[in-house]
Amino acid sequence: MAKKYFTWSFDDGLEQDKRIVDVLRKNGMGATFHLNSGLFGDKTYEGRIGNLGMTEAPAIRFDPRKHHLLRYVEHFRIPANEVVDVYRGFEIASHTVSHANLARCTEEERTREIADDVRALSSMFGQAVIGFAFPYGAGAKKSRPALEAAGVRYARLATSAGGAAGFRFPRDPLAMPLTCWHISKKTFATLQAFFDARAEDDDLFFLMFAHGYEFDFSTHHSNWTRFERICDAVASHDDIECCSIGEALARHGQI
Ligand SMILES: [Zn+2]
Repeated sequence: MAKKYFTWSFDDGLEQDKRIVDVLRKNGMGATFHLNSGLFGDKTYEGRIGNLGMTEAPAIRFDPRKHHLLRYVEHFRIPANEVVDVYRGFEIASHTVSHANLARCTEEERTREIADDVRALSSMFGQAVIGFAFPYGAGAKKSRPALEAAGVRYARLATSAGGAAGFRFPRDPLAMPLTCWHISKKTFATLQAFFDARAEDDDLFFLMFAHGYEFDFSTHHSNWTRFERICDAVASHDDIECCSIGEALARHGQI
């Protein structure tokens, strides 16, 4: 009997993740958190241009003391001495040591950013780190040898597979598209299509992508209530397994 898997994928290891894991635990949902081992405790801000509308506005880094016209949210990372407790029970995956743009790195830098992060996270969290997400979604092709050498089994992009891919498992786990970015206007329509889809001959897969700071936007398409609504909707379907990306790929027999 084919199955349906729903996974959450969160990046950057942010303070907002503490609230996220509470909601996930309440709903019995697994998830994958992509962390940067060299940036624990780091504090920056993410800005957006409110009057452009949140789905189209680019998230840009800025100094809130200099840019009073931009709205900003905290992009504060959880300190190293807290992360193991915060993420207990969830899958930890790599996101490079320093949130590097791998498309612009030398081969040596790419190897170090990936291998050192996987090693540091594995030993810190006491779990095999087999997942990865490309910072800025960049550098998938160039990074393949370094990913394979570090024992990474799947690597997530930052772009959607689009409708044509349906809810299929990724053909290439080392260049894995997401199904939906939660902030999309189509999130609930895409979810409904997944709820309605029947897993007949093959397993179905849904990967929802988010950064915790986006729920602080408090806009129509990104707020904490909407996040809880998404979780409630998914968790209310008994035929859907809500697990980490690594668990879904393993249960599907892909890794
Ligand atoms: Zn990131």
